[in-house]
Amino acid sequence: MLKYINKNKSLQNRFTKYVQIDTQSDPQSPTIPSTEKQKNLGKVLVEELLEMGVADAHLDEYGYVYATIPSNSDKQVPVICFCSHMDTSPDCSGYNVKPIIHENYQGQDLVLPDDNSVVLKMKEHADLKDQIGNDIITASGTTLLGADNKAGLAEIMEAAAFLVQNPEFKHGTIKILFTPDEEIGRGVDKVDIEKLGADFGYTVDGETLGSIEDETFSADGAVLTIKGVSAHPGFAKGKMESAIKILSDVISSLPADCLSPESTELKEGFIHPVTISGNVEQAEARFILRAFNDEELTANGELLDATVQNIIEDFPNSTYELRITEQYRNMKQVLDKHPQIIEFGIEAIKRAGITPKQQSIRGGTDGSRLSFMGLPCPNIFAGEHAFHGKQEWASVQDMEKAVETIVNIAAIWEERA
Ligand SMILES: [Zn+2]
Repeated sequence: MLKYINKNKSLQNRFTKYVQIDTQSDPQSPTIPSTEKQKNLGKVLVEELLEMGVADAHLDEYGYVYATIPSNSDKQVPVICFCSHMDTSPDCSGYNVKPIIHENYQGQDLVLPDDNSVVLKMKEHADLKDQIGNDIITASGTTLLGADNKAGLAEIMEAAAFLVQNPEFKHGTIKILFTPDEEIGRGVDKVDIEKLGADFGYTVDGETLGSIEDETFSADGAVLTIKGVSAHPGFAKGKMESAIKILSDVISSLPADCLSPESTELKEGFIHPVTISGNVEQAEARFILRAFNDEELTANGELLDATVQNIIEDFPNSTYELRITEQYRNMKQVLDKHPQIIEFGIEAIKRAGITPKQQSIRGGTDGSRLSFMGLPCPNIFAGEHAFHGKQEWASVQDMEKAVETIVNIAAIWEERA
């Protein structure tokens, strides 16, 4: 059986090229994509795909890259899409990234040269202990690396090159989708699902070698507005009802030892205030509500509402409004209806010689929304670690395994068709 080989370091060459293109997204920007510079990477990816012979590769006006590798099988094989995002997190600079390859890592501290205070230590990065002998890629100390999610881009591009160069390797129609603005929660806002025309998908944006994620949070956003009563502070006795104080009361009355991000893990959800603003007359807080099932999520919203009601009772002339809106839902609800997607993903990881780790994510992915838009889409590992910060790293060997896994997924869907 034909196997992917990383010839002439082409995988790390692609990756280091992509990370040097600044694609930071911007949550404050109203434009699509949020930053025009994301298209600079989109253009490079399209050029490379066209050079490979992927003839329909193109970048659309919203900054999405679409491409098709036609089927070379006589069978009716479901159309499989591989998806990664091009932007990097607004939390850390992605300008002038200088990737460094630390070959044959032996467990030593990795001191990053442009800021000696940025040091990767094995005891702080548990996953580094599985990387002895591997080649670790980091940034230089002043920026993030951008392995999230340019590792995924490089892996999908390598897999595409492999499939195109090896026509005897059988697969169905493969679709490629690269999205902008995932880090600011808008990654699939303008995806044209019909044009994409895929039956099932895999985002390649996971962390540890061998992981496959079929569960995300279900997520709502909540905006709480308190309308109090303002009065001249010198003459306010018996009149003033400060919206600031009412809102502060609400927030301090929420559970602290449970249902908060800092007190929960695994399958536990939370109610989390993310911004507050206001004055005596009116104050507002924005919350994110999270849980793994919809009943718990609803209960979290109800608890918030009950907390406000209970406090505002003591303020007869004040009112409140609580608006809860859906953000995304646990993709497992959709994926459970198509068990082959996970089954074949796990088989593909095993064929790459790795032990699969099926797990859930305490967050969302492009895949959680794609799944509900009609493209069931779990997340597989890309090998990105410590993302959104200056200590971000990935290893060449993990990335090679991710390419193998992608190629195996294509083969397994064809075999089983
Ligand atoms: Zn990501």
